[in-house]
Order: sequence, then structure tokens, then C-alpha cells
Amino acid sequence: MSIVVTGGAGFIGSAVVRRLAGEGRSVVNLDALTYAGNLESLAAVSGSPAYAFEHVDICDADAVNEAFERHRPSAVLHLAAESHVDRSIDGPGAFVRTNLLGTFNLLQAARRHYEHLGTKERGSFRFVHVSTDEVFGSLGETGAFTPETPYQPHSPYSATKAGSDHLARAWHDTYGLPVIVTNCSNNYGPYQFPEKLIPLITLSAQHGRRLPVYGKGSNVRDWLFVEDHVDGILAAAANGEPGETYLFGGGAERRNIDVVRTICSVLDSERPDPAGPHERLIEFVKDRPGHDFRYAVDASASTARLGWRPRHSFETGIRETVRWYLDNGDWCEHVQSGKYRGERLGSVVTG
Ligand code: NAD
Repeated sequence: MSIVVTGGAGFIGSAVVRRLAGEGRSVVNLDALTYAGNLESLAAVSGSPAYAFEHVDICDADAVNEAFERHRPSAVLHLAAESHVDRSIDGPGAFVRTNLLGTFNLLQAARRHYEHLGTKERGSFRFVHVSTDEVFGSLGETGAFTPETPYQPHSPYSATKAGSDHLARAWHDTYGLPVIVTNCSNNYGPYQFPEKLIPLITLSAQHGRRLPVYGKGSNVRDWLFVEDHVDGILAAAANGEPGETYLFGGGAERRNIDVVRTICSVLDSERPDPAGPHERLIEFVKDRPGHDFRYAVDASASTARLGWRPRHSFETGIRETVRWYLDNGDWCEHVQSGKYRGERLGSVVTG
């Protein structure tokens, strides 16, 4: 039996797959290879006997069922999603399709599979639904999300993720599927598609392009290094309680403008630009519609119940990340070729 990871060619999913296959644990990656999925991110493990790839769209129920029959998962780690807020503003349909319909198909396939397992295998089977802290909506200057915080999503991305969380919990409560939901703050690290803030700013600054910052850059996010998120997902799968929710966050709240300035200062030391400090490229642009002001996560319950805590500080993680993008220009070039070239997305303005 194998661990099935959906979205294993994406940013976080590929980190999960590299970790599992690297430890010699049998892992099957189910991925449709959308613009955000790239098998180059798995080059380190693609030759491993522990790793298998299934080119499957989770919206295709038959294909999902067939993959489950072939691989008989001992656990499902569900990460496949449309994940970029700005794209969800431009084209919400794909988010409804993958995040809601795709999650429904997976839950149904998992339920069918689970009902045919023996008693021992049922006891250890888990369906870990990986979600975001954005489902909770926006915070003011103080406070932090906990597993009890009511949902109040604002973007098509967070609304469809919220809906998928509700589906996952309903399959636990109604059908007894051993579902665990995790909600995590913003991730950063190697292999993130360069449309997201940290890789976008790093690559733009490296190439002397302007650095667009929404509004005044005062929106606050809590940043978690991707390997720490992988620790959390695997801890939840191994030691989490079915029906429970676990929150992960980096305890590293930063205003967007401060994240951008930090990247600029790392670049100033790693790749000094004779034209001047990279901060000169910062340009404030019209804000994203419905832009949540602040997210913050209280992960103390996950620390108490799973023994999980982040291992990386923002300062070490961001330096490692910027260096990775500087050293992996080929990956950045390949994943963007013909697909995304750093243009502004999600600028539809309401009202
Ligand atoms: P990503 O966009 O980098 O990767 C998504 C992956 O899913 C890609 O490989 C893509 O090909 C695949 N995919 C998309 N639609 C699919 C479909 N219909 N069928 C099969 N595969 C499909 O996303 P990510 O940043 O790695 O996020 C992974 C998960 O973690 C998502 O569920 C996201 O909501 C959640 N999450 C992300 C963050 C973050 O900061 N990135 C934070 C918290 C939670």
C-alpha cells in the first residue's frame, strides 16, 4: 500500500513527495499538471522505486477511482488545488471545479476504498485535507486564528477552500471517513511557482524589473517555511485524531512591504546591483479587490497535540529561499515558459 499525494507536482505537494520518497516510503503522486504543476520539481526522486506518478485530473471521478484501485492507498494527503488568489479573481470557475468538485470526487473514492479495507488497515487509514488559514477571513491589528474560529472567506480561492473543508468534515461526520483537516498560513521556500509574492519579487529584483506592492504594502501575513509545513502534514497523518483540525503557522508575521525589503536586502548582499540597492525598484500599485488585511495563526494546539513546531526562522528561511531561486534559474525559466511571465493578475476592480 502507498501514500497517495494529490497535487504532488506543485509547490507544497512536491516537498511532501520528495520527503516521503527520500525516506523510501512508497508514494504515488496524482496530478493533472496544470500550469502550477511541474515534474522537474521531482527530479530528485523520479528514479526512485518508492515513487510513482499518475497523470490524473481529480475532477475525473473514474480516473481517481482507478488510481485508488491500482495503488490501494494507506493514506491520502490531498493538496491538489487551484491556489492563487489573484487567478481566482480573474477566473473563479477553475477554482470551483478543482477545489470543490475535485475534493468531492476524492472523498467519494476514499470512502469507497475505505469501506473495502480490512479492520487493521481501516484503523490506520487517514484522509488529510490540506487547507489554508485564508478560510477564516481577515483579522484586525490583534488576535489569531484558532481551530474554533468561524469561517469568513472573502476571495473565490478561500471560499472554494472553505467549501472543500466543509465537505471533508461532512464525510467524517456522515460516513465515518477518518478525515483530518489542516489549515496553514502562507508558505514560502524552493519550487514555489513564480507568481506568488516571494519568488515573484526575488526574480523581478534579480532582473532589475519593477517590484509591484499592492496598496501601501501594509497587509500582514504569517510566513511558514515549506519544510515545516511538510512536518505538520506528516505529523497530522501519523498522530492526528480523525475529525480534528490542526493549524500550522510560522509565528512570523510580516507586512508585505517588509517581506519585499528583506528580499531586497538579501539580494543586495548575494547579488549586488551596480545600479543601486534593489529597494529602488519598489512600486506601489492599486490594491487587490477584497484584500484581507491580516492573517495570524495560533498553532499552540498543534504543538500540544502533535508535538509540532516550526524549525526555521523567517530570517534563515528567506535567505535559503532567495539563494535557491538565484541558483535555479533553469527551473524558473522552464516552469514559466509559455505560461506566466510575471504579469499582474487579479486586478478586476469592483464597484
Ligand atoms: P500549487 O498551485 O503550487 O500546486 C497545486 C498542484 O495541484 C499542481 O501540481 C497542480 O498541477 C495540481 N492540480 C491542480 N488542479 C488539479 C486537478 N484538477 N487535478 C489534479 N491535480 C491538480 O499549490 P501549493 O501552493 O503547493 O498548495 C498546495 C495546497 O496547500 C493547496 O490545497 C493550498 O490550498 C494549500 N495551502 C497552500 C498554502 C501556500 O501558501 N501555498 C498555504 C496553506 C495551504
